[in-house]
Amino acid sequence: MKKLLLLFCLSLFLACENSAEKQLQSKSKPVDSTENFGIVIHGGAGTILKKNMSDSLEKEYKAKLEEAIKTGHKILADGGNALDAVQKTINVMENSPLFNAGKGAVFTNAETNELDASIMDGKTLNAGAVAGVTTVKNPINLAWEVMENSEHVMMAGKGAEKFAEERGIELVTPEYFYTENRFKSLQRLKKRESKKTELDHNANETAFTDPFIKDSKFGTVGCAALDKNGNLAAGTSTGGMTNKKWGRIGDAPIIGAGTYANNKTAAVSATGWGEFFIRGVVAYDISALMEYKNMSLQEAAREVIQKKNPELGGNGGIIAIDHAGNISMEFNTAGMYRAHMDKEGNLKIGIYEKD
Ligand code: ASP
Repeated sequence: MKKLLLLFCLSLFLACENSAEKQLQSKSKPVDSTENFGIVIHGGAGTILKKNMSDSLEKEYKAKLEEAIKTGHKILADGGNALDAVQKTINVMENSPLFNAGKGAVFTNAETNELDASIMDGKTLNAGAVAGVTTVKNPINLAWEVMENSEHVMMAGKGAEKFAEERGIELVTPEYFYTENRFKSLQRLKKRESKKTELDHNANETAFTDPFIKDSKFGTVGCAALDKNGNLAAGTSTGGMTNKKWGRIGDAPIIGAGTYANNKTAAVSATGWGEFFIRGVVAYDISALMEYKNMSLQEAAREVIQKKNPELGGNGGIIAIDHAGNISMEFNTAGMYRAHMDKEGNLKIGIYEKD
């Protein structure tokens, strides 16, 4: 009997040791390289209608979207990280006057260009953001510097520009951002605003409820990427909204509103009427619905963009990619410049609702 008991204890001990060893092995296993990767971008959402677009302009947009997404895709295909892909992809769109970011940014009421940007790392939840900068050629690069080389998350205005100078970020004179189109848009909007003020003299309306601001085209740029190591990142860069006043800052540089990334869920970049994206904490809301309600990325994005955002009175869209490489390009406006490329290199570009 004693022998039997001893034998039983010995086998129990051996079994426990075996499973402890197994556990240790699985914990120390290197990060599983999935080899799955993908990238998705937007160049702004708004009243983008086929009837208002010439064939040649449409071609220009598509070519630039393709150039941008291929830049990031190559980085990912070569084994580069998601953050790098997001930053370099956004740089291509920031440098193009077609989009409302970097060169080609919209004008403020004071006829200046004030730029906002943010970037987030889904692996560490590190993030960087800048707001209201006027001399930084590529605001997403400064957001990256804030994230990587400062103990802060967000910097604004002159302080952010001082930091840019110290970090050797490329600076330009404010004239660099000038484009005739954007300047004319401001003049048109100002004219309509002064007419409307006359008409609405007695109506108790604020600029936020003003329908022509709601209808103005957007054009922010954003990117979300999944790299071969299973890491997600997202970034957004913008000139904000035409005719903005009083140092107004939108959702693009606000982590959780315009940009969010978390390896557990998804990487998201938003575009649209910023005030509503801030109030709805849109990018984080999509991630939270996935995390706490177990929704898929597409379900969460639809719930937020097709239901919650319009119910609040906002409009716009998002692009996102999840940890498995699923993507979403959801918008509630007439159009959104957008593109997606998967690991096989299949490219999808869209502008209008039906694309
Ligand atoms: N969301 C941006 C802002 O409100 C505008 C845009 O997406 O075009 O500043």
